[in-house]
Amino acid sequence: MFRGVALKLTLWYLAIIMALSIGCSVALYHVSRNDLARNNRRQATFFNGFLGPTDFNDYNHLRKTQLDEDLGHLRANLILFNFLVLVGGGAASYVLARRTLKPIEDSLEAQTRFTADASHELRTPLTAMQTEIEVALRDRAITKNQAIKLLVSNLEEVAKLKALSDGLLKLASENSDGMIRESIAVNEIVAEAVTRYSKTATARKITLKQGLKNLSVEGDRQSLVELIGILLDNAIKYSPAGSEIKITTAKKDKQVLISIADQGQGIKASDLPHIFDRFYRADASRNKEQANGYGLGLAIAKKIAKLHHSTIEVKSAVGKGSVFTVTIPVSR
Ligand code: ADP
Repeated sequence: MFRGVALKLTLWYLAIIMALSIGCSVALYHVSRNDLARNNRRQATFFNGFLGPTDFNDYNHLRKTQLDEDLGHLRANLILFNFLVLVGGGAASYVLARRTLKPIEDSLEAQTRFTADASHELRTPLTAMQTEIEVALRDRAITKNQAIKLLVSNLEEVAKLKALSDGLLKLASENSDGMIRESIAVNEIVAEAVTRYSKTATARKITLKQGLKNLSVEGDRQSLVELIGILLDNAIKYSPAGSEIKITTAKKDKQVLISIADQGQGIKASDLPHIFDRFYRADASRNKEQANGYGLGLAIAKKIAKLHHSTIEVKSAVGKGSVFTVTIPVSR
């Protein structure tokens, strides 16, 4: 589809270039022809004074032939020039058209991939629910207990679907509209995120330790709590029971660093470049059974960080743990 559009665009660019080139050439030809003819007349007037009528006629004839020859050369040169413009301009127009379309092509491809991934993720819980319901409907002697079990299982799938659609919505709607930029104490951001996840950590016998300094950043409170919450949630999800998670803050130049270090399973070096991609889950066989998620958390975190002119860095060693560090500009 894009090849056809690129060709159309090329033709449009080329038409503009050729219209300009031919227009300029025609104008140049006319100006040059008038100049040459004026010169010719001036010289004829000059020689008319001291040449006899026969010589003057010969001279005039010679000048006219020369003028026609000069104009012929000019025409040939201009035709050659326009031909070169056609070839060079055609090639340049095609390169330019491809370049113009590349970002649109990339974004359409990303959109298509996103829709395909999202549909795939939505299908799994829906298919599970459909199968369970169909089997239950075929069973005429279904007991009340079995029906309750089915409903509980369906409810779990519905919860997964809700989590997925919430994640997709967040990813789609996370933009600077409606963001309130204010100076916020980092301690408050961390405290709110910790409150959200302390129950899960306790349930998994994971200790949350804090080493916080009095620092402030500028940004949207809810989004920053969400960002730290995602990192904390992951640290808890991918850590073994009895381990420790440390949340520390520090100031470096004009940046505030918030680090979340866990003693979990770690991330393989080959997975590290992809963990911020939408729907990417490292080592599927290990993760998918153990920890809930759709691979959207870090994509959302990255989007929030970008809106705050911030970055997220990861250092990880398999079997030892990971450290996620968010670097946010300090509040002035
Ligand atoms: P999800 O947790 O829902 O799978 P995320 O986008 O939050 O999705 O994370 C992507 C992947 O990165 C996870 O599936 C996991 O493999 C890896 N990951 C993220 N945080 C950690 C962590 N603290 N320790 C180990 N692996 C992690």
